[in-house]
Order: sequence, then structure tokens, then C-alpha cells
Amino acid sequence: MEKYLIKLASGKERMARHHHPWIFTGAIDSITPSFSSSGWAKVVDYSGRFVAYGWYDEKSHIALHLISWREREDLDCLVRKLIRNSILRREHFFSLSDTTAFRLIHGEADFLPGLVLDAYGSVAKIMISSRFALDNIEEAADEIFQMLSPSLIEVIPDPNYSKLERLGEEPRYYRDGKWEECGEKKDAIRFMESGIYYETSLGKGQKTGFYSDQRENRKIVARYAAGEKVLDICSYTGAFTLHALRSGALSVDAVDSSESALRHLLYQVNVNSEKNTIPPDSRERVRIHSKDAFEFVRGAKRGEYGLIILDPPKLAKTKGQLEKAEKAYKDLNRAAFDAVKDGGIVATFSCSAAMTRELFWRVIGWARDDSGVEIQVLHTLSAGEDHPSRISFPESEYLKGYVLRVIKS
Ligand code: SAH
Repeated sequence: MEKYLIKLASGKERMARHHHPWIFTGAIDSITPSFSSSGWAKVVDYSGRFVAYGWYDEKSHIALHLISWREREDLDCLVRKLIRNSILRREHFFSLSDTTAFRLIHGEADFLPGLVLDAYGSVAKIMISSRFALDNIEEAADEIFQMLSPSLIEVIPDPNYSKLERLGEEPRYYRDGKWEECGEKKDAIRFMESGIYYETSLGKGQKTGFYSDQRENRKIVARYAAGEKVLDICSYTGAFTLHALRSGALSVDAVDSSESALRHLLYQVNVNSEKNTIPPDSRERVRIHSKDAFEFVRGAKRGEYGLIILDPPKLAKTKGQLEKAEKAYKDLNRAAFDAVKDGGIVATFSCSAAMTRELFWRVIGWARDDSGVEIQVLHTLSAGEDHPSRISFPESEYLKGYVLRVIKS
């Protein structure tokens, strides 16, 4: 049952009627009862007509997340139903023989704001970034446990939101149907993606430890690596590097500001060479560079590389940072156009939700204007199907990419 009745201010229901999920306090006319903490709310327009059900939390930076637009929803079972449906929509991933890491719940795009669930083999990792996820974590962990019987469920507060949403800082662990008392674990978790072996660890890392949203893009980009000198910018633990090596890259320069990520990259190159998933001499073909991405690309020799991958972190975290980010994306792409050979390939990505696809296209155009080359778009890329976006919620389309051919003569 809902705890609150929320009436929207006059005219403020328009986006909500188009199934956009966010309502900020300025759009709310009244909340009954007026004492507020958190819970389900029935949301009506100014004239009292039903709009949706949502989760209200006065402490959240988005006070009201709309979750279901069906008036006859059973709210007491809704979290469990949404979790179940989200997992069942990915049922086919469980029968893949070469991939054991994938996303089972993709937050608001799966109608579960701030709740992300990734499978890494038999381990389930949950990342929470909202009060809704925190408040419903008991039910969520129990439902996930009942559906999947993972060996362990790890719950990590997203460091980007832990302060803002007051989520706490420490990871928690759920095993055999109950929470464990002990602190952070550091055990290694082994998994496979597209036939390549990886390892991540429990505890605080980047995201839930791996960027499985790039799974399909890695396969596409790898097609251009055979016999080429490859530059993997913002390599993290080397998933693109490993794919390039498997495809027969002549050499790979992997660049990241995180030294520990690069050390892990080399470890994964060794593991995969031993297991014969990549050529046995791969270690000799890889050089790691613990450097700033922008400086490295700018300093590269003109025409040095046959394939350059640009996968920087989110450069625009908010719309306010967009202008600065546009320039950064432009500079990075422009430098890559100089560093790639005539006819070579630049695979370029932006994972900033604020950077729309149209804008990213335009920014790449500015980089072209500056460098004077011609650019063909060979592939338009996005996150994999286990990281869907919702048509009524454009902010959920965060990962955009292009495979570009750079023509200089
Ligand atoms: N390509 C990776 C994911 C990249 S995530 C993959 O496929 O798994 C972004 C990476 O950029 C992180 O590893 C982070 O350490 C790195 N990074 C952030 N700022 C950087 C900078 N200024 N220079 C180099 N690397 C940077």
C-alpha cells in the first residue's frame, strides 16, 4: 500500500505522463500526510487524476522516482516483481558458454532507480546509488538470493552518491540468506567475457569491477586490430587490449592513470597467454603507460598507430560540466586523428549521459575541422543489451561510441 498521496503542481505532470521518472520537489504541490520520510506514493495531477506510483524520499536529491504507471499495481510485491522480471529478461545470458559476467538489473532503465546488479560467475554484485535502493535492500537481496542462489551477494554503495544520498561507505555481504558481520572482503572473483579470462575482486573498485557495457563493442573494435599498432587509451584492466591481442595486434600501448589497473592488465595478459586464449607471445607485445591520457595522445608520433581506442571516464558528470567536457572530448579526438595513420581507425566513446549522441557527433566534427582529415563513421555503438536505455528516459542512454576511419590523403 502507498504511504503518501502526492499531488503535482499545476502543469507539472507533462513529463511524468510521458513516463519520464524524475520529479523534483519544485514540481510537487502537496504531500499527504505531511510528515515525510520515505515510502511508496500515489502520484496524481493537480486535478486529482492518477499519474503513477513512485518512491518518495525527502532526503534524496531526486525526491520522487516514478516507477509504475499502472493504477492497479500491488505495491507490496512490486520490488520483488521488478527484480524477477529484470533477471528473467536476461535469462538467455545464463546459457552463454563464453561469457559469465553480465548485468541483470540496470537501475532506472529496469524500473529500479539506483539499483544495479551484475553477475560475475557465481558472485552477485549490487551497487546502490539511491535511497530507494538502500531502503529496499533487504527485499532485493532476498529475492536475488532466492532466484539465483549466488555463492555471495556483495552490496557496495556507489562512491559518487554515497554522501549525497547518505548511503554509508562500507560494502556489505549476504550469504545463505543472511547478512554477514565481518568487514570488507578482498577475495578474487574469476569470470569470462567472450572467451577471455578476467579477475576482479570484492570490495571497493571502479563500478562493480568491470565494464561489461562494452562487451559487444570490444568484439567490433577487435576486427580492426590484426597486424596493427594499437593504442588503448584509458585501458583500465585491459579488456580492449586483450581483444586486440587475440585478433593479432602487432603491439598494444595501454595507457591509464591507475597504476594498479595497469598491473592487473599485465596479470590478465599473462593468465590468458598461459591459457592460450591469446597468442603466447602477447606479453612482449604490450607496453603499459601510467600516464595522463590527454598528454600521451598529444605526445604520440603522427601516424604512429593503426587503431586507437578512446574510452575516457565520464568527463561531464552533470550538464553544468558539459562545456568543459566538450572541449576535452574534442581535444582527445583531435589528438587521436593526428596520431592515427592514414586510413587507420579511431574507436571513440563517451559515457557521459549529459553528452547526447548528436552533441558527441558534433564534437567529433569540431575535432575534424581542427585536424583537416576526413572522417567516415563505420559503426555507431552503444551499451550492450543487458544495459538498456528507456525511450521515455533519454538520460539512461549514457554510452555512445563510433568506429571512425580517418582519411588523410
Ligand atoms: N576501457 C576500459 C574502461 C575505461 S574506464 C575497459 O574496457 O574496461 C576509464 C579509465 O580511465 C579508468 O581506468 C581510469 O583510471 C582512467 N582514467 C581516468 N582519468 C584518466 C586520465 N586523465 N588519464 C588516463 N586515464 C584516466
